[in-house]
Amino acid sequence: MTLTRQAADWSNVRTVFLDRDGVLNRKAPEGEYVARWEDFEILDGVMAALGRLRGAGLRTIVVTNQRGIALGRYALRDVESIHAKFQELLAASGAQIDAVYICPHDHGECNCRKPLPGLFEQAAAEYPGISAAESVMIGDSRVDMEFGKRLGIRTILIEGERENSAPSKEKAREIADLRCSSLREAVNAILGPA
Ligand SMILES: [Mg+2]
Ligand SMILES: [Zn+2]
Repeated sequence: MTLTRQAADWSNVRTVFLDRDGVLNRKAPEGEYVARWEDFEILDGVMAALGRLRGAGLRTIVVTNQRGIALGRYALRDVESIHAKFQELLAASGAQIDAVYICPHDHGECNCRKPLPGLFEQAAAEYPGISAAESVMIGDSRVDMEFGKRLGIRTILIEGERENSAPSKEKAREIADLRCSSLREAVNAILGPA
């Protein structure tokens, strides 16, 4: 775990925004997509980490770009069906995600493809208690870090095994308030070690 700015105080965090691919589940190889439940490989420690967030009373909201829908690789209902199965699994272990917001669009078509703020705005409209200052964005890519930064939300970068292109990765590291190797480590930073 590397602190890239002054020691962050996470004690006021009430809402945790989570990217999906590369944070909750293993990112598909370049050019491939997580199109069905069989492709959704949950990363180590994720179930327990989500359980801890729930136990601590934090709101958890997934914000995910799913351009594969615009490209016709899979449909919105496929994505929703993956999320429903994931929620079932979480519920069985006492965890739960409060909401999932999906951008199904291609580049330049909308206001909701991260780093644009639309998914945050949708969440804030449904959960009026959300404030950027009391939120954190956890993601594995530059767009996640930019999404947070533009909204005034603190950011935690998950540095996975498969990296983005070098300049993108460098930029993501530069923006991030904190860098961690997994969601488990990020949750330890926010809540204190388990
Ligand atoms: Mg990702
Ligand atoms: Zn969109």
